[in-house]
Amino acid sequence: MGDLPTRARVVVVGGGVVGTSVAYHLTRLGWTDVLLLEQGTLSCGTTWHAAGLVGPLRASESGTRLVQYSAELYDALEAETGMATGYRNVGGVIVARTEDRMVQLRRTAANAVAYDLPCELVSPDRAQELWPPMRVDDLLGAIWLPGDGKVNPTDLTQSLAKGARQRGARIVERVRVTGFTSVAGTAGRRVTGVVTERGTVEAEVVVNCAGQWAKALGDLVGVTVPLHSAEHFYVVTEAVPGVHPDLPIMRDPDGWTYFKEETGGLVVGGFEPDAKPWRSPDDLPHPFEFQLLEEDWDHFSVLMDQALLRIPALEDTGVRKFYNGPESFTPDNQFLLGEAPGLRGFFVGAGFNSVGIASAGGAGRALAEWIVSGEPQDDLVAVDVRRFGAFHGDNDWLRARVSEVLGLHYALPWPNRELESGRPQRTSPLHSRLAAAGALFGTRMGWERPNVFAPRLDYSWDRPTWLPYSIEEQLATRTDVAVFDQTSFSKYVVAGPEALDRLQWVCAADVDVEVGTCVYTPFLSSRGTYEADLTVTRTGPESFLLVSSSATTVRDLDWLARHGVDATDVTDEYTVLGVMGPRSRALLSALSGDDWSEDGFAFATSREVTVAGVPLRATRMTYVGELGWELMVPGDHAGAVYDAVRAHGARDAGYWTIESLRLEKGFRAFGRELTPDVGPVEAGLVFATALGGEKDFLGRTALAAHRDRLAGGGPRRRLVSFVVESPEPMLWGGELLLRDGAPVGQVTSAAWGATVGSAVGLAYLRHDGPVTADWVSAGSVEVDLAGERHAVRCSLAAPLATPR
Ligand SMILES: Cc1cc2nc3c(=O)[nH]c(=O)nc-3n(C[C@H](O)[C@H](O)[C@H](O)COP(=O)(O)OP(=O)(O)OC[C@H]3O[C@@H](n4cnc5c(N)ncnc54)[C@H](O)[C@@H]3O)c2cc1C
Repeated sequence: MGDLPTRARVVVVGGGVVGTSVAYHLTRLGWTDVLLLEQGTLSCGTTWHAAGLVGPLRASESGTRLVQYSAELYDALEAETGMATGYRNVGGVIVARTEDRMVQLRRTAANAVAYDLPCELVSPDRAQELWPPMRVDDLLGAIWLPGDGKVNPTDLTQSLAKGARQRGARIVERVRVTGFTSVAGTAGRRVTGVVTERGTVEAEVVVNCAGQWAKALGDLVGVTVPLHSAEHFYVVTEAVPGVHPDLPIMRDPDGWTYFKEETGGLVVGGFEPDAKPWRSPDDLPHPFEFQLLEEDWDHFSVLMDQALLRIPALEDTGVRKFYNGPESFTPDNQFLLGEAPGLRGFFVGAGFNSVGIASAGGAGRALAEWIVSGEPQDDLVAVDVRRFGAFHGDNDWLRARVSEVLGLHYALPWPNRELESGRPQRTSPLHSRLAAAGALFGTRMGWERPNVFAPRLDYSWDRPTWLPYSIEEQLATRTDVAVFDQTSFSKYVVAGPEALDRLQWVCAADVDVEVGTCVYTPFLSSRGTYEADLTVTRTGPESFLLVSSSATTVRDLDWLARHGVDATDVTDEYTVLGVMGPRSRALLSALSGDDWSEDGFAFATSREVTVAGVPLRATRMTYVGELGWELMVPGDHAGAVYDAVRAHGARDAGYWTIESLRLEKGFRAFGRELTPDVGPVEAGLVFATALGGEKDFLGRTALAAHRDRLAGGGPRRRLVSFVVESPEPMLWGGELLLRDGAPVGQVTSAAWGATVGSAVGLAYLRHDGPVTADWVSAGSVEVDLAGERHAVRCSLAAPLATPR
C-alpha cells in the first residue's frame, strides 16, 4: 500500500491491461503526472485470466491498425522495460465448415489485402499442416494469418505499468475509488478529482478503466457506460501430442471455438451462441480479486462437443483447469472509448468484449492522444462512448442484450445484420401502422425503423428474398411517390441572440441565410475532418433547426455544447415523413392549400404549411435524390398525415431502399464516407463549405491548407462512385477494389440500385499521384467479391444525376 498523493494531473481508475496501457501512453506523450489507482493489485480483475489471443485483422481498417499497433508494442516492450510480455508471433488459422463461412473468409482475405496485412487462403490439407492436431475431413478451406500472436496478459500489464513508472507515473494499489468531484463550468460540468476510501485526489482528468465496475462508477456521476458482464469460459487441457509453444492459434467459428497452446496442452475456449450474463453492474461483489466463477460444464458442453469434433485427441486428454471469468460486453460488441458527454475531463476506456488484451495497446494510445490533444486523432466513431444514449444504460436491457452479443463474435457477420434482443426501445408514433403494413424493422439509436416492407427477413451474401420488394420501393420513389418514416433523424433547436454567431463558427457552410433556407453543412474538427454531416434551416432571425443522422444525437449535442452552442434536442417531439418522388408535388398539393410549385417552394427552402389539416414544417430536401419534402409533424398528428399520404397512393418504403437510392445519387453518409479520418477535399464536398468565402469557421485553416497543398493536382485519396458492370453480383460494402490488378481502395457503402440495374456504391481510391477524373477513367477497375473479380465503372460524378 503506497502513499496516496493529494493531486495528479490525470488519475486513471483501474490497473487492468487497459488502465496500465493508458498510463503508459500518457507518459510517452509527455504527461508524466499520472496516478493510477487500483482497488486490488494490478491485473486482478478480468485481465489475469484472459487467454491472450492477439489477432490484428478486424472488420474495419481503423480497428485493424489499432490491434496491429498493440502487437508491435507487445513485441517491443521488453526491450524498453526489461519485463517480458510473453508475446509470441505464432500466426493463426481460421477454418470454414460451410460455404457461407468460406465466403466470409474470402472476403476477409480481400480485406487483409486492402489493409496490407498478410493473409492467405489455404486448403484443408494445408490447414492441417499448419495445425496438425485437428481433423479436416469436414472442412472446405481456411485462412492463414501470419500476423496473429499471443501474449501473457499479466506479464503484459506489469510491463506496461513498469514503462509508465519509469517515466514518472505513480501506481498505488489497494485504493478503491468511491466517487468523483466536479464543478459546473461554462461548457458544462467538469470533473475535478476522485474520492477514495483513503481521501480525495484532485485531478484535471479522470480515466475510468474499471472494467466491469466502470458502469457503476459512471452511474455515480451521470456518465453512461453501457456494459454488462457475461460469464466467459475456457479450459486448459493436459498435454496433447503435437502441441508445442509455437503452435499457431486456431479458430473454428462454425463450432464457436478457439484453441491455443499452453504449457504443452491446449486452451479450449469459445463464444457460445446463447451466453450467460453474470451479475448486474450495480451488484458486483467486492472484493473480487484473482477470482473465478463456478465451473458450469453443462453450459460449456456446447463448446466442448465442438472441440472434440475438431480435435479427436481431446477424447483421451484430461482437463487441467476450468476458467470461468466475467468479461464486459457492450450493446454492439464494440468497446467504449473517449470523453464522456456532459462531464469534461472524464474519460472512459472499458467494455472490451473479450478482445481487451488484443486492443489494449492501440486503445490505450488512442485514449492518451485524445486526452493530450483534446480531440481523437483517428476515426474512433465505432468505439466512441458517445454513440450511446442514457437509455442504453438500463441494467435489465443490457442484460438481455449481452446474451446475444457474446455469441456474435463467431457468428456469420451477415451484411445488414440487425440485433434482435432488447427491442423495441424507441418507436415512432407510426410504428403499429408500419408493422401492419409489413415493415421489417432495424434499429438505430434505439429507434425501430422500417428497413423494407417485405414478408420475410433473411440474410445472405447474395440476393436476399427482400430485395425484389426494395426494388419496387426504389422504382416507386424514382417514378411515382413513396413515404419514408424518418422520425429517427436527430433534431435540435438552436435559438437566441448568439445562435447565429455560434453556429457560424461550428458549421463549415455559411448559415447566415434568409429565414426559410436550409443549408447542407459539415461540422469539421480543427484537423479539418468530419465531425458531423447535417442540414441547418434558419427558421427565424435568431432560430435554427438542425437535422442530423439518427445515430449521432449524443456526439452532435456534445460537440455543440463544447463549442458554446446551446442546443435543445427535439428529436422525440416530431415525426418526420419523407414524401419523395416525382409525384410528391401533386400529392402534397392535393392535401394542402399551400403553394408547392417550383417557384413557390424552391429546393432547400423550408416553411410552415398545413397538410391534411395539420400545421407542420415542410422542407424541400432529399436524401434519395428526387423531388420531395421532409414533413416535420408534431407527434400526435403523425398518424393523420401518414394516412392521408398513403391514401393518395404513396408507397411505404424503408431504409435499405434509401441506401440504394442515395448511392445511385452519390450522396455520402456520416460514419461511412464522412469520418474523422477524411475531410471535404477527399470527400469531394468542398462546395458544401464556405471555404470560397470570407467566413471563418472551425477547421477552416486545416481545410485551406489541405486544398492548397493539392493546388494543381488532386488528393491522393478520393471518393468515387462506382457501378458494377454486370447485373449479377451483390455488394454490401467493405469489398476490395483493384485498378489494373493492384489494390487501390475499399468500398465504403454498396447496395443494389434498381434504376442503374446493378450494384452501386462509393469507395475511396488511393494513388501515389493525384486521383483526378482522368486517372479514375483511365484505369480498369475491378471489385473483389469473395475471390471473384468483376469490372466496375468508377467516376467522380454520381451514376444518376439529381433533378431538383
Ligand atoms: C475467459 C476469458 C478469456 C479472454 N481471452 C481473451 C483473449 O484471448 N484476448 C483478448 O484480447 N481478450 C481476452 N479476454 C478479455 C480481456 O481479459 C478483457 O477484455 C480485458 O482484460 C479487460 O481489461 P480491463 O483493464 O478493461 O479490465 P480489468 O482487467 O477488469 O481491469 C479493471 C480494474 O479496475 C479495478 N477497479 C474497478 N473498480 C475500481 C475502483 N472503484 N477503484 C479502483 N480500482 C478499481 C479492478 O480491480 C480491475 O483490476 C478474455 C476474457 C475472459 C474472461
